[in-house]
Amino acid sequence: MREGDGSLRVTSYDVQFQKGLSLREFIEDYGSEDACRDALIRARWPEGFVCPECGSTRHCRLARGLFQCQDCRKQTSPTAGTIFEGTKLPLTVWFQAMHLLTQGKHSVSALELKRQLGVHYETAWMMKQKLLQVMIEREERTTLSGRVEVDDAYMGGERHGGRRGRGAEGKTPFVVAVQTDVEHPEKVLFLKMKALESVSTKELEPWFRKFIEPGTLVLTDELCPSFSVSSFR
Ligand SMILES: [Zn+2]
Repeated sequence: MREGDGSLRVTSYDVQFQKGLSLREFIEDYGSEDACRDALIRARWPEGFVCPECGSTRHCRLARGLFQCQDCRKQTSPTAGTIFEGTKLPLTVWFQAMHLLTQGKHSVSALELKRQLGVHYETAWMMKQKLLQVMIEREERTTLSGRVEVDDAYMGGERHGGRRGRGAEGKTPFVVAVQTDVEHPEKVLFLKMKALESVSTKELEPWFRKFIEPGTLVLTDELCPSFSVSSFR
């Protein structure tokens, strides 16, 4: 998880909030429908509009933020193909929800979203589901590299040293992988964790291969012998 990173992938591109954006700054930057639409357009077409139909960049702007391709005449909404497609809610409300969900240190309930945004509970719940889904998809694509320490942990208490056979009866094992700064190993950059059925190479190896980049210095104890203090290839 990238804590407080504040960016949120909306299907195929990121709307990036500045880290630690204050509420006042957020309102200044995203307080109007036009500002939110412009942020969406910048995120989606950082090099300028490209027609999704024919790839042309020649276009004109119509009302309501629509783009019209001057070659194939297709009209494209900036929200088409995103989680905002077909929404009746103003983009400002979506952006406020994104801000609340990504900037806080604690998780935000649908009820809290409803109160803060002044929308119906069902609307708040739907927004939260959609936004969490894109956050999960983003998390799924995040990989670790550089210097990574891996260890196991158990819900309800940590493993006690020296014990053969990891964990204790009835506790859920987790694998925790921490990417640190290479020069300053005490500085944690990113963290990933996963609940396991059991601590076994069979379960760990596919997870390592998926989330740890080749060439990474992986530091483990005997957790997964094939990865111990090695440059993982
Ligand atoms: Zn076109």
